[in-house]
Amino acid sequence: MSASAAQLRHYYRDLFAAYGPQQWWPAQTPFRVAIGAILTQNTAWTAVERSIANLRSATALTLSGLLRQPEETLRELIRPSGHIRRKAATLLAFAHWLKREHRGSLKYLAKLPTEEARHQLLAIHGIGPETADCILLYALNHPAPVVDEYLRRVVTRHHLASEGSSYTDLRQLVSEAFEKSSEQTQQLNEFHALIVQVGKLHCRSKTNCPGCPLEKYLPVSNTN
Ligand code: SF4
Repeated sequence: MSASAAQLRHYYRDLFAAYGPQQWWPAQTPFRVAIGAILTQNTAWTAVERSIANLRSATALTLSGLLRQPEETLRELIRPSGHIRRKAATLLAFAHWLKREHRGSLKYLAKLPTEEARHQLLAIHGIGPETADCILLYALNHPAPVVDEYLRRVVTRHHLASEGSSYTDLRQLVSEAFEKSSEQTQQLNEFHALIVQVGKLHCRSKTNCPGCPLEKYLPVSNTN
């Protein structure tokens, strides 16, 4: 394991000790988790929750319920999440694809090898790497590392990766940190949620390092 990946394991341990289990998306159907993963692109989760409440009121949180919605109506239901044209189109593309290719159930997709399932998700218009990995990890329970802006900030500010690192580079770094674990999927699930937590509380666009659980790892050049 590289030194950077080993360091990430320490971050996981210390964040878990500081914040405890994050329990992301418990008691949700895989389909609802996938809907949330699409809606949360470039949007705060509180806004997604308002959209999901609207979808629930319209009984549109199932595949058949979603497909019954005219696209115009769907845009209004998800308005709190923003980017309504793109996200409504993606939700419908995803739902039609699921019905056509997997008999309307994510359980068939979940049976595929992770990279094959990921390849299929990435082929759906509007689904990028972060959304695909969120669906794989949180809806399908596959060991897929999720890379987001919070992770990018933490690893670049701590010099574990360069500023110009690609999504694939960072995904590989996280994958390496957890690949030997017997609880790989559960730990990847917690790790992403913990990184989001430290990102919200401390590692914003402007850092708030005092009191951050990762402060002791900060490179000397960043502490001045
Ligand atoms: S110590 Fe500072 S730079 Fe490091 S994760 Fe915390 S807020 Fe970000």
